[in-house]
Amino acid sequence: MIIPGLPAAGGRRNNSGSRLAAIPWLIAAVAPCAAGEPFADIHVHFNWDQKEIIGADEIVARLRRANVAFAVVTSTPAALALELKQAGGDLIVPFFSPYTHELGRQDWYLDANVVRLAEAGLRDGLYRGIGEVHFMAGFRPRIENPVFARLMRLAQRFDVPALIHVDAANETPFVRICEAYPELKIVFAHAGGNLTADHVRRVIERCANVTIEFSARDPWRYGGLTGADGRLLPEWRDLVIAYPERFVTGTDPVWKVTRTQTWDQADDGWDYFAQLLSYHRRWIDDLPKPVRDRVRLENARRLLACDRLHC
Ligand SMILES: [Zn+2]
Ligand SMILES: [Zn+2]
Repeated sequence: MIIPGLPAAGGRRNNSGSRLAAIPWLIAAVAPCAAGEPFADIHVHFNWDQKEIIGADEIVARLRRANVAFAVVTSTPAALALELKQAGGDLIVPFFSPYTHELGRQDWYLDANVVRLAEAGLRDGLYRGIGEVHFMAGFRPRIENPVFARLMRLAQRFDVPALIHVDAANETPFVRICEAYPELKIVFAHAGGNLTADHVRRVIERCANVTIEFSARDPWRYGGLTGADGRLLPEWRDLVIAYPERFVTGTDPVWKVTRTQTWDQADDGWDYFAQLLSYHRRWIDDLPKPVRDRVRLENARRLLACDRLHC
């Protein structure tokens, strides 16, 4: 079956097509994509393997068409975020990625030059945050590595947020980070992914400095955030309503992560941007208005000091 917003037959595979068939509301939500209220997208990428198939101008056009107020972009290599900024102006809020070359995710934590580049970029006002930084339980780098510690101290000194992705079975590794840097604004990436609402509640309660972002690429990736009607599951809804100032949202249009054996293929994640955004708009629209406005836009504006700096 062909879903608007998905590549037609002959395009790259979508390994979750069977799940889409079970989500009829999504078809109506995706086609055609009505813009909706202004939306802060706190998590997008413009990586080298995306640039192979989409340019900065086209990404900016898609963000504008979707009425994105501003988007936080993090790139591998880091400098690509600045290329997108040049194309999008105030629409783009670049974060410094420690992955400064194409394979930087593999060795950034061994390279002190990453810290020097981060400091120069923050000092010159080119970047408005640090991240995305990934930690996978059982793999290097470890949370305690000194390059990461220096990056976090830099973010704190420049009063900018750090976007951190931790893959783990519970909230403990993330809490170790947020308790180690209590003055630092930290964004927890991908709520709705591996951790449950109870795990995330404990992060919120332990660390007042953490903002939670939803970019789990659901319903295609995890399926733990919303029900078949596209609305938040009760445990997530209760949490968002209990802490409405602590949540923001992002699309994270990176698609290779959901497949196997794609090292030789470009990432066509931006082809899925409109449908990911429609998914988030659906559950956000179901929240009481004051909560909805915070999660959709206001919390992100506060996090990124948009009143003082441009967003
Ligand atoms: Zn991530
Ligand atoms: Zn990401």
